[in-house]
Amino acid sequence: MVLEKIGEGLREALRKIARVGYIDKNVIDELVKDIQRSLLLGDVDVKLVFELTKRIKERALNEKPQPGITPKEHIVNIVYQELVNFVGKKPEIELKPRKIMLIGLFGSGKTTTIGKLAKFYQKRGLRCALIGCDVHRPAAMDQLQQISNLINVPCYAPKDIKDPIEIAKKGIELFEKNYDLLIFDTSGRNALDKELANELKKLGEFIKPNEVLLTIPADIGQAARIQAEEFKKLVGITGIIITKMDGTAKGGGALTACAVTGVQVKWIGVGEKLDALEQFDPERFISRLIGFGDLQSLLEKARDVISEEKAKEITENISKGKLTMDDFLFQLESFQKMGSIKSITEMLPGFSLPKNIDLSKQEEKMKKWKYAIQSMTKKERENPEIIDSSRISRISRGSGVPESEIRDLLKTYEQMKKMIKLTSGKKRGLIGNLMKKFKMFKGLL
Ligand code: GDP
Ligand code: MG
Repeated sequence: MVLEKIGEGLREALRKIARVGYIDKNVIDELVKDIQRSLLLGDVDVKLVFELTKRIKERALNEKPQPGITPKEHIVNIVYQELVNFVGKKPEIELKPRKIMLIGLFGSGKTTTIGKLAKFYQKRGLRCALIGCDVHRPAAMDQLQQISNLINVPCYAPKDIKDPIEIAKKGIELFEKNYDLLIFDTSGRNALDKELANELKKLGEFIKPNEVLLTIPADIGQAARIQAEEFKKLVGITGIIITKMDGTAKGGGALTACAVTGVQVKWIGVGEKLDALEQFDPERFISRLIGFGDLQSLLEKARDVISEEKAKEITENISKGKLTMDDFLFQLESFQKMGSIKSITEMLPGFSLPKNIDLSKQEEKMKKWKYAIQSMTKKERENPEIIDSSRISRISRGSGVPESEIRDLLKTYEQMKKMIKLTSGKKRGLIGNLMKKFKMFKGLL
């Protein structure tokens, strides 16, 4: 998983929002602190983190949600949007480049990424060829050759030529006619020095690539900013590839540091294998990172269940210690509407159902209770205490639900009433109430 730690922190922070009763300044303060903590742990620059959370806070406190959006959805949307902006703009990736040159320091992942890129473009129907211009590292030519064998593309990587421009020239002559895309490997050193800058500059001037992509390993964290800026200044780059995003907690630092340089991150490397390369898409990236889809559906489901007014009415009844059969039915229905109990509880951290429970049976039972309640008279529904055995027989005949199950229902109703008396009076919002309901049912299962 990419950026596991940051993702965990952010997801937990946002799920807290889903769980609280209502949004107020304290909730927002806490959210902001949680976000700061997760990002700082991921080596994101302190100043950037504070700028980001300041924006989130200002928007959360000042912007009104659009009609039809609940305050919680509104907050979650703001955090999502700001995080998307935080990691950069969506890059344009040229789908039919003629020549791509990869540059970057030693070990940053150039040669591996060349294989990945060739594979990507090959899948899209381009005929690719690789040209090895890393004349400094002895094993570099063999490595490129091996990679090219793996993906079945031709490679020109001579070991006896020491001038990268000469190799580039011969490679171009060799492949230009019959191939759509030429990808050039270059040498890297331990630091970007004058000599390396010169070599890359001259090589670039000769090749005239459509893309000069800089590889930066994610594990250098926020130091990526300096590296990106230096390369940009000395040789010019059209995009960045952050490699090794899979193996470090510092990827968030690298990513956000690059975003501020104005050079776009176009790709991210997420593993050693040759298909472990992704086009960088900020929306998709953040969405996955914070589990945005799940969050949204959780919030939407919660919204479908109860209208605010009805919830208020019931809460008022309940706080008076009153529970009609209609309220009870309403609770059953809202509970059912939330979908399969299991899928809901899986979305709520810290809430687990006891094992070995047959949930489909439970839902079946609720259906029968519903029929039984519908067979009750208005008087019985308002005052379930009056339901004696002769009424039970009548309800059973009317609804087709066995008497034993109606007794069960009445017992459950009584238990719920007791629990409501115990838990009423505390201030809780919509979700709080839902959670309370879950707990009631959990107790009954
Ligand atoms: P170069 O010196 O810049 O050409 O770097 P290499 O392509 O030789 O890569 C250096 C090391 O990093 C190799 O062991 C690669 O397998 C590894 N590597 C490259 N990209 C990734 C990546 O995205 N994830 C992981 N885990 N390893 C990578
Ligand atoms: Mg290499």
